[in-house]
Amino acid sequence: MPEKIVIVGSGPAGWTSAIYAARASLEPVVFEGAVTEDNRLQGTMPLGQLALTTEVENYPGFPAGDLSEFLRSALPSEHQWLVDLHQKEGCSGPELMHLMRQQAVNFGTKIVTDDIVEVDFDSHPFKLRSLGGEEVEALSVIIATGARANYLGLESEEKYKNLGVSACAVCDGALPRFRGKPLIVAGGGDSAVEEADYLSKFASTVYLVHRRDELRASKIMAQRAFDNPKIEILWNTTIEEVLGNDTDGVTGVRLKSTVDGTEREQEAAGAFMAIGHTPNTTFLEGKLDMTAKKYLQWTVPFRTNTSVEGVFAAGDVADDYYRQAVTAAGSGCMAALDAERWLGTKGF
Ligand code: NAP
Repeated sequence: MPEKIVIVGSGPAGWTSAIYAARASLEPVVFEGAVTEDNRLQGTMPLGQLALTTEVENYPGFPAGDLSEFLRSALPSEHQWLVDLHQKEGCSGPELMHLMRQQAVNFGTKIVTDDIVEVDFDSHPFKLRSLGGEEVEALSVIIATGARANYLGLESEEKYKNLGVSACAVCDGALPRFRGKPLIVAGGGDSAVEEADYLSKFASTVYLVHRRDELRASKIMAQRAFDNPKIEILWNTTIEEVLGNDTDGVTGVRLKSTVDGTEREQEAAGAFMAIGHTPNTTFLEGKLDMTAKKYLQWTVPFRTNTSVEGVFAAGDVADDYYRQAVTAAGSGCMAALDAERWLGTKGF
């Protein structure tokens, strides 16, 4: 018997679509990703990118700080008793993801901890094959595989991955090798500032290396970088090489000025890349229409349809513009409703 709906991916889009599909009695199966070294190095482990972040301050309903104080001020007197149920600080990315996962499980979602590596959308029911060799048939599919962090593409960067080069400050920043040492963050967006700010808790100085003379980050985030005495922004600068040796790993970077081409070395124990993302769509090449940047193409305005009828896309895998937890969750809900209605019209 084919599954009514298979969801691939386990970020906010995947879990929200599972919650809605489960509540619609579609008995969803979520392939949440495999726990492998490859996925760890790429940043594509189960629970997605939010599991690699710290505090989530902008997910509605989860204000930062002392949630009990927030509730005390927000709730009418007859509901003040609820405050005692929530006595903790805000919510972190990993917590939010575990809560979403549990919410999906509570409604009967089946979870497979594996990657989908191959799909056949040419015939119906669709066929999907996992890394572990499991084959599953599905009447409808939601792709919610998200996007992963980019690297500069330097040979030296590849060599020192796990030895001081990282694309996730939150995962690796607290390691002893980085404590009290100068660190590099590459990029000028919100992620770069967030990573630099986080790393400043451990580092002696964080050098934020940006190729232009203006940050791309939002005003509030940029101000956070300017206000942090441990962050020094190196404007108009690129990283040409990661320096290091087999014993110590990363020892510094070779920098180049984009203004006059001069080069210099900067000592550092780590180099954190925060230079944007690539959608996780390799296994869908030639199967679904994609944009030039390989994001899945939504084919109907304000709907989550892809180029194959019965296959829907939600979250960052189809969105290189908003890329927020709440927009991913929103489109996950849309995809589940779109799939439910499509299954209904087909009489499944
Ligand atoms: P982003 O906004 O696309 O910024 C990427 C940065 O990396 C840009 O500054 C870009 O430089 C630089 N860059 C790209 N390729 C490079 C290369 N090859 N060499 C050197 N520099 C390179 O990506 P993001 O910072 O990951 O943010 C993605 C989305 O998530 C955004 O919508 C952001 O607002 C959101 N986000 C929000 C928060 C928050 O609100 N707390 C935190 C993280 C992310 P240019 O500026 O020169 O293009």
